[in-house]
Amino acid sequence: MMNASYNPTSPREVMALMSQYGLKPQKGLGQNFLIDRNIVQKIVAAAAVEPGEAVLEIGPGIGALTAELARGDGQILALELDQGLARLLEEVLRPFTRVTVISGDALKADFLALANKYFPPGTPVKLVSNLPYYISSTLMYRIFEQKFPFARAVLMFQKEVAQRLLAEPGEAGYGSLSVLCRYYSSGTFLFNVSKQVFWPRPEVDSAVIMLVPRPPVLSPDEEALLWRIVKGSFQQRRKTLLNSLSKIFPWDKEILSTLLAQAAIKPATRPELLSIDQFAKLTRILYNYKRGNNRF
Ligand code: SAM
Repeated sequence: MMNASYNPTSPREVMALMSQYGLKPQKGLGQNFLIDRNIVQKIVAAAAVEPGEAVLEIGPGIGALTAELARGDGQILALELDQGLARLLEEVLRPFTRVTVISGDALKADFLALANKYFPPGTPVKLVSNLPYYISSTLMYRIFEQKFPFARAVLMFQKEVAQRLLAEPGEAGYGSLSVLCRYYSSGTFLFNVSKQVFWPRPEVDSAVIMLVPRPPVLSPDEEALLWRIVKGSFQQRRKTLLNSLSKIFPWDKEILSTLLAQAAIKPATRPELLSIDQFAKLTRILYNYKRGNNRF
């Protein structure tokens, strides 16, 4: 049970507790635990959880963020893949009645269904996570597929992934993840985190970013087409937009050029120079043309 002396940011204590449960950090599950109270407090402060709000924490691990969140407001649902760690955490955090620990795979989670199951209807849910690196991009695509159903997300990533999420057109790492991130949210870089504040120490540095939802500008059908266009364009990022689009749409290149011109985009433009507003505008034009031609 958690008592005043339990310190989840002390490697010695964490090691002792884990060995009590017969556990060791599993590299394959991205288990690098935060051992710096200051960073933990900065992440939790950025989440700014208010009474009446809730938090979904993905990958609570040994509970560094969970325990700090538990000292604040709101209900907390912690979703951990490692059943041994989930069991440990459940017992350690039992005195905190606002914390629920469940074992499961975030890559398979339906976030709205989880919120409906564990929180009162209409509760704003904030996502907080020090994400296991090996799932971070896949998980972000899943969150965007589910239309970013969070009031805010404060997330730690491997630095390069954070850069990709927040990259602007023309910058290194700008790709489909950046475009979709910008479609569903507004992002802010918060701070860098050195690899030295983790146990065991990872090979890479990290960064924390904050995302807040953006209202959708496209209809659900248009949005589905946006995904196809964005993914299709960046799969062949060396190709011009005209060539990539001609792989997606079975129309004459002349027609495609005209439609691109309607969106004020030159056919030879490469996808990495296109902003989300341009992708959205182009999507609407292509969608309307497609519908006008009864090609659904
Ligand atoms: N939040 C803790 C911290 O900051 O110290 C632990 C972070 S550690 C980088 C990532 C955690 O995510 C690990 O506890 C790992 O077991 C868990 N995890 C890995 N894959 C997961 C998945 N697919 N779904 C949920 N949790 C996962």
